[in-house]
Amino acid sequence: MDSTQASQWLVRIFATQELEIDCPTSADSLPQFVDLIVRGLDASRLLPRVWLHIQQCPNCCDLFECLQDVVILADRADLPRPDFSALFRD
Ligand SMILES: [Zn+2]
Repeated sequence: MDSTQASQWLVRIFATQELEIDCPTSADSLPQFVDLIVRGLDASRLLPRVWLHIQQCPNCCDLFECLQDVVILADRADLPRPDFSALFRD
């Protein structure tokens, strides 16, 4: 490996580390990430760190898919809504 290759290699390592986040950080941003997707925005470009983490972490990917399903269902109003007025009837 010559010095040019070595420096390119280092640049790649630092670029990866800059984008890496841990699971709690990813989980904190997932609702925002899903919200962007549901609104038809390019979430992978707007939140690249979260996107990258989901690609690499099966746990967070599962969480992301569940959250996305729930948000899409809630948007379609397919989920039963609680009837709060029943609580105040005598
Ligand atoms: Zn994770």
